[in-house]
Amino acid sequence: GNEFQGLTALVTGGASGIGAAIADRLAAAGAQVAVLDLSPDASPHFGVQCNVADDASVRAAVEHVIQQFGGLDIVINNAGIGAQGDISANNDDEWLRVLNVNVVGIARVSRAALPYLRQSQAAAIVNTCSIAATAGLPQRALYSASKGAVFSLTLAMAADHVREGIRVNCVNPGTVDTPWVGRLLDSAADPAGERAALNARQPHGRMVDPAEVAGAVAYLASPLSGSTTGTSLAVDGGMQGL
Ligand code: NAD
Repeated sequence: GNEFQGLTALVTGGASGIGAAIADRLAAAGAQVAVLDLSPDASPHFGVQCNVADDASVRAAVEHVIQQFGGLDIVINNAGIGAQGDISANNDDEWLRVLNVNVVGIARVSRAALPYLRQSQAAAIVNTCSIAATAGLPQRALYSASKGAVFSLTLAMAADHVREGIRVNCVNPGTVDTPWVGRLLDSAADPAGERAALNARQPHGRMVDPAEVAGAVAYLASPLSGSTTGTSLAVDGGMQGL
C-alpha cells in the first residue's frame, strides 16, 4: 500500500537489523525516511550520523531531518544495545551506559521531535521494546531493566500526548535474526549448531524475521491503528504465551 505517502519518518538504529527492515518497510509504503545511526552509511535511505546517548547530537540530527524534509510525522525509537549476565555482571558505568542508550535515548529523540509531531496530522511514535521487558529472562538483568523502562515509558508517553494527537506504542520482539544475534552466534564454538539450536528453541521453530517486526511497526505507525495508543504488540512466535 501507500499508507505513508506524504509522511516523513525517522528511524533510530535504522542502519542494521530490525531498524533497517523498518526503514525499508516505511519507504516502500511511500514515507520519506531518515535513518539516525552511529554509522548511517550502510543505509540506502537518507542517513544522519547520530548518537542517541548524546543530547546535542540528537537535537542536531532532528534539525537536519527537518531541514531535509520540512516536517516529521513518525518517530521509530529502535536504537538499542545489549547486555548479558545477572546484576553482578556489569558495573555502574555499564549499567548507566546501557540505560542511557536504551531508555534515555528514547526520551531524548522523542523530546526533540515533539514540536514537529504536534504539527502533524498523523503523528505516531513506535518504540522497539522486547519480550525481555516482561519475561523474566535469566542472565539479562540490565537489558531487561532497560526494556522494562521502555515498556513503562511507552505507556506514560501515550497518556501524556494522546490529547495532542500523538500516539505512542511499542513492539516486543522475541529472538530476531539480525546482525546482533549473528554476532552472539559467531562468538560460540559452533555457530551453525548454535543457530540451529536457537531456531529450534523458538515456539514456532525459527527466529523472527526482521521484516515481521517491521510489519508490526508499520501497523502501529499508520492510520490503520489510529485509535491504538499505549499498547505493546508481541512479535515473538508465541514465546510470550508460553
Ligand atoms: P543491530 O545491532 O543489528 O542494530 C542496531 C543499530 O542501532 C545499529 O545500526 C547501531 O549502529 C545502532 N545504534 C546502536 N547504538 C546507537 C546509538 N547510541 N545511537 C544511534 N544508533 C545506535 O540490533 P537489532 O537486533 O536490529 O536490534 C534493534 C533493536 O531491537 C534494539 O533496541 C534491540 O534491543 C531490539 N530487540 C532485538 C531483538 C533481537 O533478537 N535481535 C529482540 C528484541 C528486541
